[in-house]
Amino acid sequence: MSSFEISTIQDRARVLLASLPGSVRLIAVSKYMPSERIRAAYAAGVRDFGESRVQEAIRKMTELEDLTDITWHLIGHLQSNKAKLAVRYFDWIHSVDSLALAQRLNRIVEVEKTSPQLCLQVKVRPDPNKFGWSISALKSEWPLIQACQHLKWRGIMTILPLGLTQPEIKAAFRQTQCLATELSSIPPEVSPLKELSMGMSNDYLLAIESGATMIRIGRRIFGDRPEPEDT
Ligand SMILES: *Cc1c(COP(=O)(O)O)cnc(C)c1O
Repeated sequence: MSSFEISTIQDRARVLLASLPGSVRLIAVSKYMPSERIRAAYAAGVRDFGESRVQEAIRKMTELEDLTDITWHLIGHLQSNKAKLAVRYFDWIHSVDSLALAQRLNRIVEVEKTSPQLCLQVKVRPDPNKFGWSISALKSEWPLIQACQHLKWRGIMTILPLGLTQPEIKAAFRQTQCLATELSSIPPEVSPLKELSMGMSNDYLLAIESGATMIRIGRRIFGDRPEPEDT
């Protein structure tokens, strides 16, 4: 890794962090990026990192064991056979995308006696290429999700489809915010969904305008991603 790339990452991370309101947490999406790049962002003050694959993330966690105050976020689809590892290793899982996965996590958390903070992944616009609940499916399954009594629901995560106009993007983010408020007010009101994990390199400013509390930024910090290695 050249020193040029390292210092570019540091500069980008520093500028971005300094530009954010205090209410917004920056999650640097380091998927497919080597650990040295994570170290560079860490040196600039970033403490939250997002990964999309469990095994790849665990390898980097091991390589970065000396950086003890990193918070690790899983943001990619979680296969049920990796759910136990995800519970053990991640501080947050943003990508809980089905009732079956929620129920599986509930059983695992009960046994493991430790639980990451969780977000529900919602498709506020239809998108056949993405995982997640539709708004109507989430509303109808919400009582069953709340019945997973060992889980700590903290908020909603959304990824918008490509090709929306700026007003459409804002409307979709606002709708995510309304959904979180609405679900939080449904009895028994066990878990207020305070976190809105929305906004990526291209749309994070609009997301912040619409109430995002966590933004997930990859390319704007780390540059273009290499192709993922097959696992
Ligand atoms: C890759 C990814 C991001 C980061 O996207 P950029 O466009 O690189 O900022 C954010 N969220 C999720 C769920 C991702 O998979």
